[in-house]
Amino acid sequence: MRALSVHTRLTLWYAGALLAILVVVSALSYSLLAWSLAQDVDRSLLAVAGVVRDASRDSPTDVAEQWLRELFDPEHQLIQLLDPDGTLRLRSRALRGDRLPLSPAAQRMILEGRPAFDTAAMRGQRVRVVTLPVRRGGRLVEVVQVGASLRPTERALERWIEILAILVPLAVGLAAAGGRLMARAALKPVDDMSQAARRIDAEALGRRITVRGTGDELDRLAETLNGMLARLQSTFAEMRRFSADAAHELRTPLTALKGTLEVALRADRSGPEYRAALASALEEVERLVRLSEDLLLLSRSSAGPESPGARVDLESLVLDAAAVGARLAKDRGVVVRVGATAPVAVQGDAGALRRAMLNLLENGVKYTPAGGRVEISVAEDGPSVAVAVEDTGPGIDAADAERIFEPFVRLDAARARETGGSGLGLAIARSIVVAHRGTLTVQPAPAGGARFVLRLPADRR
Ligand code: ADP
Repeated sequence: MRALSVHTRLTLWYAGALLAILVVVSALSYSLLAWSLAQDVDRSLLAVAGVVRDASRDSPTDVAEQWLRELFDPEHQLIQLLDPDGTLRLRSRALRGDRLPLSPAAQRMILEGRPAFDTAAMRGQRVRVVTLPVRRGGRLVEVVQVGASLRPTERALERWIEILAILVPLAVGLAAAGGRLMARAALKPVDDMSQAARRIDAEALGRRITVRGTGDELDRLAETLNGMLARLQSTFAEMRRFSADAAHELRTPLTALKGTLEVALRADRSGPEYRAALASALEEVERLVRLSEDLLLLSRSSAGPESPGARVDLESLVLDAAAVGARLAKDRGVVVRVGATAPVAVQGDAGALRRAMLNLLENGVKYTPAGGRVEISVAEDGPSVAVAVEDTGPGIDAADAERIFEPFVRLDAARARETGGSGLGLAIARSIVVAHRGTLTVQPAPAGGARFVLRLPADRR
């Protein structure tokens, strides 16, 4: 079954709630009407009975009888007079030979001198009867009974039910139709928005959803969606750029490899010539292997640490990375040393963090001329810990301080080529640090050169 649309569901809820309210109100109005009609009947019965009682009490019996005969002869009055023992003395013509009932409860009441009300069935109708005692000289001399058919009351109540049965569905129907129109109008912008969003795909991420400028929730929704689209667009652009750069980086060594092999195969070569060609081919293959390893590392590190909960002793990690850096630096005449350290720990993946530090140290060693120095230190810094790698190399211009962390960015192409870097080292380091909820920035070192600072949340367990 197809799910109901929001405006249909809203309308159904609205109509349901209105129906429930109207049913309750109708039931209340019916009970109130029934109660007030019953009160009216009882009041008028009592009034008539009072008149009859007064007439029969204040006049001699035969005069009263005569008077009553004249007064209460009309067709529709149900009146009867009884002796105290219950014997019928007089009844109005409208009773047509029937008797108004006198229940034992009513009998008890009149003996106490109080009026009694009863409802009884007579000739297929419900009849309301009031019974009044007539006392003369403190003695019960007569009983007056006045009855009235409840048919008119019942008819009024039936008519009220008929009116409600027409009015309630009509009101609910009209309200539902109006509510549906209103809900549809209110939700139309949402429909428009979803249609606009449907037209946006990976190829048309530059499109935006129209913001109507009303400043309401729907405008905020459109703005949120547009913000998300803008982020998606820039991510897509970044991915495209990355793929293009990666393809380009792969093509360079592959073209060189192809060229070397073609030249070697073009004519018969001597053994040393073949060896030289193969050595050059191997060099390009090694570049390709390094590049693919770096690409793999980058995609893994951006997926986050492999064991996020593990506690990592940062001090020993720094000492270990410094030892590796020192071995690399030996051939280049650069000194790697450990500066200030502190016994600090972070949470994360020790292998990945070691990789990030090594990338910084390797860069320091690579870009610092012989006779220079690279220093790594670790210190506590408020709620975080900071690892700094500082060198005495050429340093990095403030204008390039952000750019160098992008994949494949090398500031000096010739130098990068000579050092064999792919331009992924800093991108890998930053994505590892970001995955550990930290930051990696560069600033000028006080002694000239570059100072990379890697900041991570401290683990104080
Ligand atoms: P690469 O493989 O080229 O070293 P990186 O991502 O590690 O790639 O570095 C990007 C660029 O940033 C380098 O090509 C280099 O120009 C510059 N760079 C990195 N570290 C340093 C440093 N310590 N001193 C000067 N320049 C640096």
